Amino acid sequence: MTILIIEDEIKLVDILSRALKVEQYSTDSAFDGEEGLKKAMKNDYDLIILDIMLPKKDGIQVCTELRLLGIHTPVIMLTAKGTIDDRVIGLNAGADDYLIKPFGMNELFARIRAVMRRKKTTEPDIVAMDDLIMDRVKHVVVRAGKHIELTPKEYKLLDTLLRHRGEAMSRKKLVDSVWNPGFKEVGNELNVHVRYLRRKIDSKGQKPLIHTIRGVGFSIGDR
Ligand code: CA
Repeated sequence: MTILIIEDEIKLVDILSRALKVEQYSTDSAFDGEEGLKKAMKNDYDLIILDIMLPKKDGIQVCTELRLLGIHTPVIMLTAKGTIDDRVIGLNAGADDYLIKPFGMNELFARIRAVMRRKKTTEPDIVAMDDLIMDRVKHVVVRAGKHIELTPKEYKLLDTLLRHRGEAMSRKKLVDSVWNPGFKEVGNELNVHVRYLRRKIDSKGQKPLIHTIRGVGFSIGDR
């Protein structure tokens, strides 16, 4: 299990890395928000320990962007202030838990175990909707027993919709997740990819799973 520590206090990073190593976790570290975000996007970590007060990009921004990108790696936020506000903002930004500095290592380990347990129950590797199955470990999609080949963008689009099943997903949220936050469409890319995806998973004779929500965006599931 690998944990990314995003924290600008080098001494604290050092203490955390050593303590986590003793508990059999591997660690990686980043000393500012931008570097942290880059690493979290590039590598597949099991957990991120994220300080709020960081140079270049604060922890709240980092967490918000990760979630917009569809990256759901569990995040434990570190807050120095310990004010209610900080905690609420952190959790709203998509953090799974928080710790108030200074904290003891045993408290940190307990939080890590709790967050990992929750992750197992809330984020399955295999999701099914009707006769559609997405296996995130094998990276395959099957509908009515038939294997469906998807491009990376189509896969990401389907994955994002499934993570928000039943929700009317706005165009902006989808574009942010499938491309990147702030991506500007030049040729209706989202519609084009939704059309391709529909052609593949909602072929004729099958119950349509992807729905257009006028003036909003798209959703997957029963309407
Ligand atoms: Ca800091």
